[in-house]
Amino acid sequence: MKTGCTGCRYCMPCPSGVDIPGCFEIYDNFYLSGNEKEAKLMYAAKPGGIIRGDVPGYASQCVQCEQCIEKCPQHLDIPSLLEAVAEKFEGNDHKGWKVLAKKAFGK
Ligand code: SF4
Ligand code: SF4
Repeated sequence: MKTGCTGCRYCMPCPSGVDIPGCFEIYDNFYLSGNEKEAKLMYAAKPGGIIRGDVPGYASQCVQCEQCIEKCPQHLDIPSLLEAVAEKFEGNDHKGWKVLAKKAFGK
C-alpha cells in the first residue's frame, strides 16, 4: 500500500469536505494495478461525489488545517499524502475525466 490507510474513517469528517479514505483508496489501488486511466476515472467519480450524488471531496480541497492527523491510528501525514494524490490525479486532464465520470456514473 502506498498510503498505509486502512479505511477506518476515524479521520472523518474533514471540515473542508475531503473524502480522505476515498482519495487514498483510489491512490493505493492505482499503485497496485498500474491502471492510470481507470484510476483517474474512479478518482473523478468517487471522491468527486458523482457516484453517491454528493458534493465533491477531492484531495485538492485540503487546506492543511491538520485536524485529521491526530485522529488517524496509523499516524499518517494525511495533508502531505493528499498533496501527492492531487498532484497525481488532478492535472490538466482532470476536467475531462469528470465529464466522462458523469456520463458513466451520474444520476
Ligand atoms: S488537513 Fe486537510 S484533510 Fe485534514 S482535516 Fe484539514 S482540510 Fe481536512
Ligand atoms: S484515520 Fe487514517 S487510516 Fe483511518 S481512514 Fe483516515 S487516513 Fe485512513
